[in-house]
Amino acid sequence: MAESHQTSDVDELLRLFLEQASEHALILLGREGQIVGWLAGAERIFGYTAEEVVGKSASILFTSEDILRKAAEQELHIASKNGPAEDDRWQIRKDGARIWASGVVVPLRDSQGNVVGFGKILRNRTDQKARIENLENHCEALTKADERKNIFMGTLAHELRNPLAPLTSAVDLIRLTVPDTPDLSFATTLIRRQVEFIQRLVDDLLDVTRIGAGKIQIEKQEANLNTLLNSVAESCRAQIEDRKQNFQLILPEVPILLTADATRLRQVFMNLVNNASKYTNEGGEIWVKANVEEDEAVVRVSDTGIGISAEMLPRIFEMFTQEESARVKAPQGLGIGLALVKDLVTLHGGKVLVRSDGRDKGSEFTVRLPLR
Ligand code: ADP
Repeated sequence: MAESHQTSDVDELLRLFLEQASEHALILLGREGQIVGWLAGAERIFGYTAEEVVGKSASILFTSEDILRKAAEQELHIASKNGPAEDDRWQIRKDGARIWASGVVVPLRDSQGNVVGFGKILRNRTDQKARIENLENHCEALTKADERKNIFMGTLAHELRNPLAPLTSAVDLIRLTVPDTPDLSFATTLIRRQVEFIQRLVDDLLDVTRIGAGKIQIEKQEANLNTLLNSVAESCRAQIEDRKQNFQLILPEVPILLTADATRLRQVFMNLVNNASKYTNEGGEIWVKANVEEDEAVVRVSDTGIGISAEMLPRIFEMFTQEESARVKAPQGLGIGLALVKDLVTLHGGKVLVRSDGRDKGSEFTVRLPLR
């Protein structure tokens, strides 16, 4: 008794649901795909009354392209074979307008398992489709703009680099040919340093654009990490001494051997040590420590400098990321050094990580590379 009462309740609720679910079309199809039920919001969504469509093939709702492709038949065939199938496609309303209908087709089987018809539930999602298409167009435009920007940066870097070699030669020539005085020596040293600085910046810029375009290949050979780090220390010595910083290079006695592109790894550590010096006050401390941990070479570059805020840490390896306080301290950077570090370390099959306890608490960059 209770059960039949429940069944009639369900029937009544179902009737109300079909009457009131105006945002969803419920379409029942016979085995051959002819419309046998036109329920819920079907009339509102497609504009046809039940009398106009019942008995006709569901393909009247399909676009001419889909009719040519026999999409209506295929859809039912796939649903009978594989079970309920998602059904998102352009369909045609009575007034000829296209709507993006999104839904599902369910094969309906009798007690022997034979398909006796299909149920389709659809929703008009034209607004959502338009939004998705807008986003896709936007995304495509951004990708193209990014490509153009990369090409521009590459050309710019190239053009900026060209005058640097003649400038260096001219300074060398002045040193060789003009009698030395303290003023001249000061001026030529200054020019050389500034040219070297621009050269590094421009080389980094050129490299990130090449990596972005997949154009950098590393040439791996046997490399001695101890020798490499000694040479980096030597190259950074002048800058560190200028800033009266205390520098320590701590290496194990046994050389650490890698299979790596030594020039590229040099670039990685030059960037990290330069940053450590740039973002540490005069008189601060910088350490570079290398050792072997399991099957990895691990190099830590630490400083007692301005540190990195917690908000910035997750983004620090992204291109053009610069912390405001850091920009004040070293306004010449472009924010590409760390992006390049990450790309080059990744090309070596390694990882680079950063740690900082916050503002003025120093920073530590750890590079992990596979051993030879
Ligand atoms: P740049 O130094 O040219 O700005 P980088 O990509 O090398 O570009 O560094 C990005 C940013 O990361 C810097 O602007 C700075 O905010 C921060 N940063 C990098 N190294 C350090 C460091 N050792 N200490 C503090 N901040 C650092």
